Amino acid sequence: MPRKREASTPRRRSKRGRPEPAEEEEEGLGGVPAVEEEDGSASVILARCSGDEPPRRKVQRDAVANEDENVFIGEPVPEVEARQRWPHRYQQPKEQTNERSQRLNSQDELEDIILAKCHFTRLKVDDQIYCLEDDAYVKAAENEENYICKIVEMFEAVDGTRYFTAQWFYRAKDTVIKTHDNFIDRRRVFLSELKDDNPIDCLVQKLNLHCLTPNANSDFTSVQVECDFYYDMMYLLPYSTFISLPPDITAEAVSESDSTISCENDTAESKGRALEKILLDLYSGCGAMSTGLCLGADNYGVKLVTKWAVDFNKHACDSLRLNHPETQVRNEPADDFLCLLREWERLCVSCSLIKSNSLPHPCLNLANHNNGESYNSHEEDDEEPRSDTDDEIYDVELILDVCFGDLNETGKSGLYFKIRWKGYDAAADTWEPIEGLSDCQHKLKEFVENGFKAKILPLPGDIDVICGGPPCQGISGFNRFRKTENPLEDPKNKQLEVFMDIVKFLKPRFVLMENVVDIVKFSHGFLGRYALGRLVGMNYQARLGIMAAGAYGLPQFRMRVFMWGALPGEKLPQYPLPTHNVVLRGSVPTEFESNTVAYDEGHGTRVKKALFLGDAISDLPPVENDESRDEREYVDEPKSGFQEFIRLGRDGMPGCILYDHCPLQLNEDDYTRVCNIPKLKGANFRDLTGVLVRDNKVEWDPKVERVYLPSGKPLVPDYAMTFSGGTSSEPFARLWWDETVPTVVTRAQPHNRAILHPEQDRVLTVRENARLQGFPDYYKLCGPIKERYIQVGNAVAVPVARALGYSLAMAFKGQSGTQPLLRLPEGFPEAFVPANQTLSEASR
Ligand code: SAH
Repeated sequence: MPRKREASTPRRRSKRGRPEPAEEEEEGLGGVPAVEEEDGSASVILARCSGDEPPRRKVQRDAVANEDENVFIGEPVPEVEARQRWPHRYQQPKEQTNERSQRLNSQDELEDIILAKCHFTRLKVDDQIYCLEDDAYVKAAENEENYICKIVEMFEAVDGTRYFTAQWFYRAKDTVIKTHDNFIDRRRVFLSELKDDNPIDCLVQKLNLHCLTPNANSDFTSVQVECDFYYDMMYLLPYSTFISLPPDITAEAVSESDSTISCENDTAESKGRALEKILLDLYSGCGAMSTGLCLGADNYGVKLVTKWAVDFNKHACDSLRLNHPETQVRNEPADDFLCLLREWERLCVSCSLIKSNSLPHPCLNLANHNNGESYNSHEEDDEEPRSDTDDEIYDVELILDVCFGDLNETGKSGLYFKIRWKGYDAAADTWEPIEGLSDCQHKLKEFVENGFKAKILPLPGDIDVICGGPPCQGISGFNRFRKTENPLEDPKNKQLEVFMDIVKFLKPRFVLMENVVDIVKFSHGFLGRYALGRLVGMNYQARLGIMAAGAYGLPQFRMRVFMWGALPGEKLPQYPLPTHNVVLRGSVPTEFESNTVAYDEGHGTRVKKALFLGDAISDLPPVENDESRDEREYVDEPKSGFQEFIRLGRDGMPGCILYDHCPLQLNEDDYTRVCNIPKLKGANFRDLTGVLVRDNKVEWDPKVERVYLPSGKPLVPDYAMTFSGGTSSEPFARLWWDETVPTVVTRAQPHNRAILHPEQDRVLTVRENARLQGFPDYYKLCGPIKERYIQVGNAVAVPVARALGYSLAMAFKGQSGTQPLLRLPEGFPEAFVPANQTLSEASR
C-alpha cells in the first residue's frame, strides 16, 4: 500500500515522482508484506497510514482454513516468459543482495523482493476465479471499507506461499482530499503507482471497475449504473497530484462521450484559432500575479493576455488599468461578477447567440416585446391603471454597460444597465434595473448582441486560464474568532467557494490559485483540501505546491501555496524549481512539507546565491520621512544585476522615471523614535534608553528614568515592551543590507515589524517594497499611499508568477514533463533568451 515518505525535509525528496518507501524503524514493518506470527498464521500489511495515505491495517488471514481451496489455476506462465515479464522475481539471491545494497546506497527502494517459483494468470479464492488485470476488493480490518486494487501479478513464492501483487486505487477520502470528498462521486477512485504483494486469500471479491477517457464535461452518469467503481485519473503523492491516466492506460478506456477535451483543443490549435491565450485574473489586486504569468508565458513563446480582471478595491483596479490598458478591469465583488456572468449567459441565450443548457433570460423576451424604447419608473408596482400624469416616461437612447449588484441599495441585488437618456448627456447617465427595461427590448437586444461581439464578458469556454488568490481572512493567525470546525462557515473564507464556482461556470483550460500557507495549516488543512476536492470534483487534474519567493531571485522568504488545475486532456503544469538558494524556513505543516518546491539535497547545484536587501534597493536615491513626490529621477546607476533588470522599461530599455519612491509618513513621535534607533545591523527599540534585555526578553532598566518625547508620550512605547511577551526584536527594527526580509506586508507601520531603512530615518518606501516583491520599476501604483502599500503587500511576487507562467506556457504547448517539477532555463529570467529570439533582439 501507499508508503510514508522519509521523514523528509523539503530538500530531500525522491526524484522518481513516487513516494519514498517507509523507513523500517519508523514503521516497524519495513515493507515486508507477510509476517509470520507465533501461532503459525500469517498477518499481512495491507496499508500504511501516513498523511493522505489509506489507513494501515494488519489483516488476519483465514489461511489455514482455506489454504487448499485458494489456489492458482491453469498452467504456470512458461518460465522464459515469466522471467522476461517479472525478472526481479527470478534473481539469484546473490544478485538480489547486491542490487539491494546498491539500491539502499542510492536511497532507493528498501523493500525486499519476494522471489518466485513461477507465475500464473488465474487463481481461485473462495470459489471465485480472478484473472490477471482483474480488479478486486481486498480485505481490510473490521469495520473498514475493503481496499480496491488491480491484480497485476500472481505468483508462487519460493517458500510456496501464493501471492498476488496489488496495484492500489485510492478512494477520494484516502487522498489528500480526506473528508472533503462530497464533490466527488463515491464510485470514482484514483489509480496509484503503489504496488505490493499479498497472500491470495486476502482477495474478497471481484469488481467491475471502468477506466474512463478523461472528459471535462462528463459527470460520468452513464457509467455509474454499469460498474462498481470507475477511474479516470491517477493520484500520486508528490505534490498531492491528481493527473490524467497515461496514454497506455487510456488506450483501453471506455469513452464517456465522443469528443474529449483534448481532441477539441487539438482542432482549435491546429486551425490556428487560439494564438492568443486569454487570462482572467480574479481578486486581481494591482495585477502582479497576472503580470508575472504573462511575462513568463511570453518567455516560452505563448502570448497570454489578461482580458479581464476583477477586484472590489478601486485603487487596486486603477493600478491594474494604468499598467494594463489591454485589460477590462471590473471593480466589483467577485460574487457579483459570478452572478453577472450567469445573467449574461442567459441574455445571450435569449438573443440566440449561444446554445446552452441555461434558460433564456426572463426579462429579455423577444417574442413578446412591443417596440417602445422607454423606461417606466413605475414598472414594478404597476397594478392600477395609471393616468399619463402618474408616469415619468424617459426615452432610452443607448445602453452603455451592465453590472450586477445592489446599486440602488434596496437590499436586493440584480442586473443593472447603464443608460444614456435621450436628450441628456453623460452626466445624467444612470444605472437601471433590468425589470424597468421591459419596454426597451430592442435596445437591450442590441446591447447584448454588440456586447457579445465585443466580448465584454466571458462566457463558458472563453477563458484559457483563471488565476487568483481568493482571500481567506478567516484563517489568519490574527483572527481570534476563527471557525476551526468548518472554516467555510466563516463568511471571511467564502471567496474560496466563489472562486471555485467561477471556475465551475467558465471551465477554463487551466487554473492557478494562490494562497497563504495557512490554507494547508489551519484546521488540518481544511481549506486546501476543500479546494483540491472542488477541482477534482469538476474533473480537473490538480496539484499543490508551496513556493518561497526568495527562491526565485528576491531578498524575501514569503512562502505561498500554489494550486494548479488543468482540464483532462491538457498537460498538468509543473512547478518551476528554484533559481536561487534560499534556506527555507519552517511554517509549513509536516504533512505538506514535501509539497515545498525545492531541489533534492545535492541536486540544486546550478542555483545562484540568495539575494539581499542591498541587491534590491541600494541604487535608490535617499528620501526623507516626509517625501511626497510620486515621481522622480534615478540618481545612481544600477549596482546589481537585479537592479539593472528591474529598471528596464516595458520596451526593454533602461527606464528613467522612478515612481512611488516615497514612504508612509511617520508621525512626529514615531519619527523621533526612529531617529534614535542606531544605524546598525540588528538595531531596534531594544537599543533605546531604558530598555534592558535578559534571556532575550526585554525589561525596564530600573536605574534609568523613563524618557518622554516633547508630545508627552514615552520614547519606548509600552506596546513595544509587551509585544510577543517581550521576546520580539521587531518593533522599530532596521533591516540591514545583507539580510533577507521575512515577508513584505500590507501595513507600513514600524510598531511590530522590521521595516525601517538601514540607514535612513523612515520606513521602506512603496517602491522599495515593490522591488522586494519583484515588480518592475515601470509598474506605477495608484491610490493613497497606504493603499499602494496594501497592493504591493498583497501581491504575488512577480518572479514567482513569472516562473509559473513559463511552466504554464509549456503546458499550453503540450510539453510539460511527467514529473511535478521542471528546471527553468539557465539565467531565467534576466539573462534568458527565448528560443524564438536572437540575442540582439532580446537586448533591444
Ligand atoms: N493576486 C493579486 C493580489 C490579490 S490580494 C496580485 O498578485 O497582485 C486579494 C485581493 O482580493 C485584494 O486586492 C482585495 O481587494 C480583493 N478582494 C477581497 N475580497 C474580494 C471580493 N469579495 N471580491 C473581489 N475582490 C476581493
